[in-house]
Amino acid sequence: MIVAMKKGATGDQVTTVVQTIQQFGYRVGSIEGEEETVIGAIGLGDVTACLEAVGPLPGVMRAVRISTPFKQVSLTFRPVRTVVKVGDVSIGGEELVVMAGPCAVENEEQIMAAAEAVKKAGAKILRGGAFKPRSSPYSFQGLGFEGLQLLHKARELTGLSIVTEVMSAMHVDLVSNMADIVQVGARNMRNYELLKELGRCRKPVLLKRAPDASITDLLLSAEYIVEHGNSDVILCERGIVTFDKEYTRNTCDICSISVLKDLTHLPVILDPSHACGRRKLVPGLARAGVAMGVDGLIIEVHPEPRKALSDGSQSLDFPQFSKLMTSLGSLREVWQESRREFNGTSHLVALA
Ligand code: PEP
Ligand code: MN
Repeated sequence: MIVAMKKGATGDQVTTVVQTIQQFGYRVGSIEGEEETVIGAIGLGDVTACLEAVGPLPGVMRAVRISTPFKQVSLTFRPVRTVVKVGDVSIGGEELVVMAGPCAVENEEQIMAAAEAVKKAGAKILRGGAFKPRSSPYSFQGLGFEGLQLLHKARELTGLSIVTEVMSAMHVDLVSNMADIVQVGARNMRNYELLKELGRCRKPVLLKRAPDASITDLLLSAEYIVEHGNSDVILCERGIVTFDKEYTRNTCDICSISVLKDLTHLPVILDPSHACGRRKLVPGLARAGVAMGVDGLIIEVHPEPRKALSDGSQSLDFPQFSKLMTSLGSLREVWQESRREFNGTSHLVALA
């Protein structure tokens, strides 16, 4: 439930509300708000009785139940956008943050070349898988710990922060010690033990949407991480199942970006590479994501895509990536301008 206090409500009035909420078996998850204080409470108490008790208290403007199954990640629950800080980069603020690099770390030469090239083009974070979730056990599985060490070296060389995937709860400490952002791949979005473990880790989590997951499913997975103690979660749209495998790998649910930004305070990024699976489509999709209001992009870039050990067909080469980067800034401005026109109106409200 949320309790919105009137403008100018006193600290004592807020305290009384909090104590009343607690008496009904609820826990206060957040107290925030720019103009008015909004108290977000979670628990399994008698919500009707609690609302009846809190509603008439002095200083309370309204007390309402949150109707969505996800609570703490909801923008209603916490009406202040989460900005995830990684070094001197902020994800979820004004800046569009680009993460780029190969699908998998293959060897030292490859990852160092990719790191230098994506940095030069303006990327702020280096991606690269060390533990790779592959459909076939006979495909390249990643370099594992050696891959993490190479990423670490690339960070030392370039100063770029690192995002890399963790596939097992057993590896959370290992990966989070070496990475700046820990990625949960689409296949693991519903690995709840992994999500709980990531709740206990102190690094931001990039959570990818499973191809068959609804927006609610994605937000509930994020809720697991937040509920277990880690509120630095970045959501990632990466395409959902398509019936037309002949031409694209997935269907990019481009509208999910705008919908998510209305539903949650968490940052939202797009992975145009996995969303379409074809190099030629990646730049257009990346730009579409920016026009739709993403907080960032994660893009596969390889020194020689045709020789890549995984996902070469959707990887950009260095010139393609740097060309794409030069086109993003103006689109971001277009989006910022249109956001001002709507004057912060929620897309769902605007539709109603
Ligand atoms: C990846 O980022 O290389 C990857 C495996 O992505 P996804 O989990 O979205 O398939
Ligand atoms: Mn990949």
